[in-house]
Amino acid sequence: MAVSVSASNELRALLGEDSVLPGTTREYLSDYSETHNLRGRADAVALPPDAEAVAATVRWCDAHDVPMIPRGGGTGLAGGAVPLDGGVVISLERLTGPVTLEPELWRAHVPAGLVTGDLQRRARESGLLYAPDPGALEQSQIGGNIATNAGGPHAFKYGVTGTWVRGLELVLASGERMSIGGPVRKDVAGYDLRSLIVGSEGTLAIVTAAWLRLVPAPELVLPVVAFYPDVQAGCAALATVMGSGLQPAALEYLDEPAVEAAIRAFPGDAPEGPAFMLIAEADGSEAEAARLQGQLLEAMEPGALATYAPAGRGPIRDLWRWRGGVGPAVTTARGGKISEDIVVPLEHLADGILATREIGQRHGLPACSWGHAGDGNLHSTFMIDAEDEAEAVRAEAAVEDLYRLAVRLGGTVSGEHGLGVAKGGALALQWPAPALDLHESVKRLFDPKGLLNPGKKLARATA
Ligand SMILES: Cc1cc2nc3c(=O)[nH]c(=O)nc-3n(C[C@H](O)[C@H](O)[C@H](O)COP(=O)(O)OP(=O)(O)OC[C@H]3O[C@@H](n4cnc5c(N)ncnc54)[C@H](O)[C@@H]3O)c2cc1C
Repeated sequence: MAVSVSASNELRALLGEDSVLPGTTREYLSDYSETHNLRGRADAVALPPDAEAVAATVRWCDAHDVPMIPRGGGTGLAGGAVPLDGGVVISLERLTGPVTLEPELWRAHVPAGLVTGDLQRRARESGLLYAPDPGALEQSQIGGNIATNAGGPHAFKYGVTGTWVRGLELVLASGERMSIGGPVRKDVAGYDLRSLIVGSEGTLAIVTAAWLRLVPAPELVLPVVAFYPDVQAGCAALATVMGSGLQPAALEYLDEPAVEAAIRAFPGDAPEGPAFMLIAEADGSEAEAARLQGQLLEAMEPGALATYAPAGRGPIRDLWRWRGGVGPAVTTARGGKISEDIVVPLEHLADGILATREIGQRHGLPACSWGHAGDGNLHSTFMIDAEDEAEAVRAEAAVEDLYRLAVRLGGTVSGEHGLGVAKGGALALQWPAPALDLHESVKRLFDPKGLLNPGKKLARATA
């Protein structure tokens, strides 16, 4: 308690009265992760108004050996922004300006606290596209997206957040400010520190601003939806799309229980009882999008029960809004869920989908998956009764089996959400010992005192 009071008071003296909240402020103690009972404890919450104030906060924490937990929009699904055992939560929410868009040069310089959807809209107003579209884009921040290397449906064609980052402005664990990269489009001079920071989940440095790449926005997007009688038929259609060299912007899937949970609200015509669903999106100039939509229909129709190809802004917006609601619809089915983000090589997508359900069965839990088919990225999910303690415990065991499955199939335990605290130590299933040692050495190099987001992105489980 004495630590909390002194941390808050000293930070108030440093940052100003209205830039520090008590460590008990609930909304800064959790995120969107569904891990059982994950709620943290902090000594103070700092809301620095600019990058220099972020650096001053970090210098104070370093001088007093106080842990610091960077926080963006708090939409993370792995507990990365949750303060585990005291320290100062450093929320980047006030770093929202200035935003510099240079449409003629296809680039932007943005502060870390800018909300993702805001950047997308600003780019779009200039005829440009910022493609990364993680699901919570009206709450997540660019800094959080960079720290998690967030994906989303359009990562299939356009890549995950990291592929859009040209440069970063950072505060290191010592409180020193540093830039890497910048407005340049190419830079191979040094080791790729930029890529090391991207996806580091606030454990190596705090991102205060970024140089981002933009591209000319497609004139038109035209989705194609196809319903199949089973997983095999759906995955065969996916293989046909890929094998024919077509390049949809997004290629998503839902398995049978996920379709069942969400189909009632589907905004178009759906056949009775589909067991698998693919959603592809064509984009480009009007002519290109129309041609690709036709080619996608041709590739996806064989073996399908029905197809649906909406046109017009309203129906297309409704389709993607529906897709965004699949997770919540699955939650509603039983009141709770534990949802993961494993990735498998594309040729094993059907195995991953079916094995997810088998794992659920083994642990006495209904299971389903949906996700980014083209990237082999499954949101494998165990549906639980949120009030039933025993089910939550069984789901945690099922998740362990799921990680082993991903690794056995040649994949990874996380394609989007990161390790955070939820998957702490899971990397040890996947990487050999020398790689784990390097991972730990990198952390020590950037953060010798271990004060930056302690307990997160751990390569090995702690005793
Ligand atoms: C409904 C829903 C749908 C989602 N869909 C997707 C999806 O499709 N794809 C996907 O990839 N993710 C998805 N997510 C997960 C989440 O939105 C992303 O991980 C997002 O990038 C987190 O951003 P945030 O700003 O909320 O970060 P937070 O949750 O606040 O933090 C996440 C991690 O980043 C660190 N961090 C945050 N800001 C900074 C910073 N400025 N500098 C250094 N470290 C920082 C934190 O310490 C933490 O470790 C979804 C989440 C929800 C709730």
